[in-house]
Amino acid sequence: MTDSNQLKEILKSHDLRITNCRLDVMQFFLDEKNALSQGDLEHQFKQYDRVTLYRTLNSFLDSGILHKIPNSSGIATYGLCHETCSPNHHKHNHIHFNCTNCGQIECLDEEVVSNVLVPSGYKVQGVNLIVDGICAKCA
Ligand SMILES: [Zn+2]
Ligand SMILES: [Zn+2]
Ligand SMILES: [Zn+2]
Repeated sequence: MTDSNQLKEILKSHDLRITNCRLDVMQFFLDEKNALSQGDLEHQFKQYDRVTLYRTLNSFLDSGILHKIPNSSGIATYGLCHETCSPNHHKHNHIHFNCTNCGQIECLDEEVVSNVLVPSGYKVQGVNLIVDGICAKCA
C-alpha cells in the first residue's frame, strides 16, 4: 500500500494536478500490478463517470505514468511505466506476458535487449512484445 503522500509526489513530479480520481486510479494500478482496461476502472470506481476515468487515463498516458499495451482482444489495456519514461517519450523494452488461463496481462520487469531483434542498419525505437503462456500464479 502506497501512502497518499507518495501518490501526490508522483502526480506532482509529472506536472499533474492532484484530483481524487487520479489518486484512486494510481493507487489501483500500484496495487493490481497487472494491466488494466478502462472497463476495469469503471467496474472498480462507480463514483466516477466514464469521461472522468477516460481523461484520467489519458493524462497518465501523456505524462509517462502509464503506457498502452497492444493486444489482440481489441480492448486497450494499460500498464504502469518504469522510471525511464517521460512525457511523450515512452521507453519500453519489456515483455508483456499474456496469461492464456486467467487472461491477465502483466508487464515483466526484465528488459529485453532490443538490438538483437533486428538486423544491423535498423534502429529500434520501441519494442512491443507480447508473450502468451501461463503466469506464475496459474502455473
Ligand atoms: Zn512508458
Ligand atoms: Zn494466469
Ligand atoms: Zn508494460
